[in-house]
Amino acid sequence: YHAKTKGKRHQYYLPTETDKPFQEVQLENDLRQAIERNEFYLAYQPQFSMKSGKIIGIEALIRWKHPQNGIIPPNDFIPLAEETGLIVQIGNWVLRRACEQIKDWNQRGYPPLHVSVNLSLGQFLDGHLVEMIRQILQETGIAPEHLQLEITESMTADVTYTIETLHQLKQLGVRISMDDFGTGYSSLSYLKNFPLDQLKIDKSFIKDVLKDEKDVAIVKTIIKLSHNLGLEVIAEGVENFQQLALLKENQCDKIQGYLVSPPISAEQIEEKYLQVP
Ligand code: C2E
Ligand code: MG
Ligand code: MG
Ligand code: MG
Repeated sequence: YHAKTKGKRHQYYLPTETDKPFQEVQLENDLRQAIERNEFYLAYQPQFSMKSGKIIGIEALIRWKHPQNGIIPPNDFIPLAEETGLIVQIGNWVLRRACEQIKDWNQRGYPPLHVSVNLSLGQFLDGHLVEMIRQILQETGIAPEHLQLEITESMTADVTYTIETLHQLKQLGVRISMDDFGTGYSSLSYLKNFPLDQLKIDKSFIKDVLKDEKDVAIVKTIIKLSHNLGLEVIAEGVENFQQLALLKENQCDKIQGYLVSPPISAEQIEEKYLQVP
């Protein structure tokens, strides 16, 4: 702060509407109540098999329907949830809700889908994650392999802890995907040591893949790398047919993106993609 600004600020006792810290405090209070008030919901983005062209799973993506500010996307409140520790509660709600959705579809006889759920750092470091997931699997009775957890490279700084936690999760039978692959401080050694099932090619590499030869090289390499390691590979952010063709040509296993479908409601998933046999 410059002395002048500082002096000026001290003339006011009440925060103004444009005062950012005040807005943040407001948002934090709202976030605390959002679970009780039932303001979160999940959107589901389909994931498709390249081979069959059929839907094989969905990614659960959280949305916040704020009473005054309308729909808030995750990038605008997940960081605050991380800072305040609220992420643990919110993340548990997401896990439970996603598994309940799969259970509901199972019970109604729809063909099985897997659901991918994004984890946050705070959630991953929370000592109760494994137990929480065990409980949710038990309560909903869904097949553990139908739950896929998406972690990111930024969560894996403590390598020993990561390996231990991932092994515990694998023992429950769930699948692990490395989201936004290639954007973090990736080290190839973790691919050797983490029990992963899937790599998810970050959408930043897909975005310009038709214009940028380097992106082509990176995408091809990630697909090859995945297969050489016995991992499944999915591309996110697929927006046009040329990108799809390139991914198909290079044997990418699965795709997700606006080309096929944006995130939609559970009802829309049912209407568009699910038929009771
Ligand atoms: P993400 O896990 O990488 O999810 C993919 C994001 O890309 C989603 O944004 C999705 O709507 C968007 N997307 C899908 N297809 C396309 C496409 O073709 N082009 C482009 N440009 N974008 C596409 P969204 O829903 O806003 O989520 C943003 C991020 O917020 C997610 O990135 C994830 O890191 C985080 N997030 C979402 N839900 C949760 C959650 O329940 N828990 C946690 N911890 N994080 C979440
Ligand atoms: Mg994700
Ligand atoms: Mg993510
Ligand atoms: Mg991603």
